[in-house]
Amino acid sequence: MSKWIENKEGMRVLLMGNEAIVRGALEAGVHVAAGYPGTPSSEIIENLSKVARERHLYVEWSTNEKISLEVAAAASFAGLRAICPMKQNGVNVASDFLLHLAGSGTRGGLVLVSCDDPGALSSANEGESRHFARMIEIPLLEPGDFQEAKDMTRWAFELSEEIKNIVMVRSVTRLSHASGSVRLGKLPEKKGTAEFRFQGPFLNPDTGPVSSMPVAYHHDLQHKKLDRVRELFEESPFNTYEGPEKPELLVITSSACTLYCREALNLLGLKDRVGLLKLGTTWPLPPKLVKSYLAKAGKILIVEEVISFLEDSVKILAAEQAAEIGIKTFYGKNDGSIPMIGELNPDLVAAGLSKIMGVPYLSMDGAYEKEAQEAAGSLAPGRELNFCPGCPHRASFWSIHKALQLDNRQGFVCGDIGCYSLGALPAGFQSVKIAHAMGSGLGLACGFGKLGDFGMDQPTIAVCGDSTFFHAVLPALVNAIHQEAATLLIILDNSGTAMTGFQPHPGLPINAVGQEAPKVDIARVCEAMGAKVVIRDPFNLEETRATINALLEQGGVKVLILRQICALSPEKKGKEDYRMQIDESRCLGDECGCNHLCTRIFRCPGLIWDKGTKKSRIDEVICVGCGVCADICPNGAIMREEPVSL
Ligand code: SF4
Ligand code: SF4
Repeated sequence: MSKWIENKEGMRVLLMGNEAIVRGALEAGVHVAAGYPGTPSSEIIENLSKVARERHLYVEWSTNEKISLEVAAAASFAGLRAICPMKQNGVNVASDFLLHLAGSGTRGGLVLVSCDDPGALSSANEGESRHFARMIEIPLLEPGDFQEAKDMTRWAFELSEEIKNIVMVRSVTRLSHASGSVRLGKLPEKKGTAEFRFQGPFLNPDTGPVSSMPVAYHHDLQHKKLDRVRELFEESPFNTYEGPEKPELLVITSSACTLYCREALNLLGLKDRVGLLKLGTTWPLPPKLVKSYLAKAGKILIVEEVISFLEDSVKILAAEQAAEIGIKTFYGKNDGSIPMIGELNPDLVAAGLSKIMGVPYLSMDGAYEKEAQEAAGSLAPGRELNFCPGCPHRASFWSIHKALQLDNRQGFVCGDIGCYSLGALPAGFQSVKIAHAMGSGLGLACGFGKLGDFGMDQPTIAVCGDSTFFHAVLPALVNAIHQEAATLLIILDNSGTAMTGFQPHPGLPINAVGQEAPKVDIARVCEAMGAKVVIRDPFNLEETRATINALLEQGGVKVLILRQICALSPEKKGKEDYRMQIDESRCLGDECGCNHLCTRIFRCPGLIWDKGTKKSRIDEVICVGCGVCADICPNGAIMREEPVSL
């Protein structure tokens, strides 16, 4: 049994931030959880799915974040408690429904957890979700450590039920994925009962129909709810102050930045001179509390990731209160004391603090960083951004690249977000020339496909993954077919949401809790929409290449499904199709005219260029025996053999 599910109140355990959020939801008696995978949020649904049976939960991986929020909201409307975790990009996807939901209000406690990714450690952007809380006018909580991740999540359900509206809890990668000590609370025993009541008066929030209309009435009500939130936030134990009564500088921070600030103040020996106001309730700000601390100091530094969200809010409040608290000097992102972009760390905070306070500090970004990089370069093997050994995407992009070269009309690939984003790099033979949001590859290809009247005759290929197909490609495919766009959609079907850890999607016969579920057949869906559909095995390079060339010659919308299971999937891991050998007598390396094509261009990590012998060889530890490289060697030196059965 995982330690975070133990029912031992008061016990201290080491929990990852996302596990602490899960524990908080369980202690709150959550009934329903729905989400879409996205690093750094994925562990929340994964962990809840593991205990779904014993804790009487309904848990699902939904088709996308908007749908997951709708599923969670249904539970709330029926009087249950529900959680909906997603990464920052997911909040964009869910925001349409979220705007309506914030207007209609909720019934059972409903908590949206947004796990943001400052520094884009596992994302294609570092956009952040806090602005949605302000834009949509819902309360925002930001845990500053692991205990708070649990306690705040639990309290967020109570807050949601008190104000009858959704509450957002915002985590960041360093909190979601790091671990810390957490004292467990009690797990409730009760099982919820669901009933959606709608027979009451139209505007009765508990028994009437649920809607954000009439807008004026609901918007006014929403503002009254926010007034109550401000009152509660004034007294919140999640807002704390540490430091002198009259600090020379007041640092205001939130989230994981709290830990960076504490460490930076320690490093600089400034704890007796600088005050630290840690806010856990960051929107709406508790005005009296913030004002009382602003009044203590003339200089204010705001430390946060990524955008100057807190800084802007505090400045507005300070301007409104200026007559009483006086004019303040602000430091933060806007004056360059704290970097405008990227993830923070204690070093960056210390560098900003040292300048403001005029104390010496040797930032690590000089000699230390250089030394660390040199040590890492010599002690750890260098790794380029590459597809895994045996990855079907490498084979797919090889064929796409070859087909576009042969087609010779300056064709290009529109991609999106997934493992296959590497298609823009040498790993994918630089085939992808445009990559944006999930599903946007086909929307863009559809747009390019309609530019024929303006003289554009470059063929366009859109690529997407199988999970992305359900998440966001379906509407783009409908559009492409209806608008008769000349385009080819290639679905890189590796049978799972591979990038985030093989979570199931609607194309698989299994659901989030491991039960059998109806499988939605991608090919039949595309055919039913009116697309011409072809299915190929990307490991068959020549057949795939020839198919792409043939499809590029045809008009209308074509769908090519390249189906081969991910090399790292549990079903495939450890099983090799072939034992690979390189015939040294045939491999002529530099001399062979191919200029070691296999290691220089094809770049599977299972192939090594031996600088001593000047020949390629197979790395038997890394090669997973997919056999694809045998078809790319122009000299026939790479050979497949049947695997040795043990
Ligand atoms: S294995 Fe084939 S492709 Fe690789 S270096 Fe030798 S001859 Fe060239
Ligand atoms: S068989 Fe070739 S392509 Fe496949 S994993 Fe091994 S080295 Fe890589």
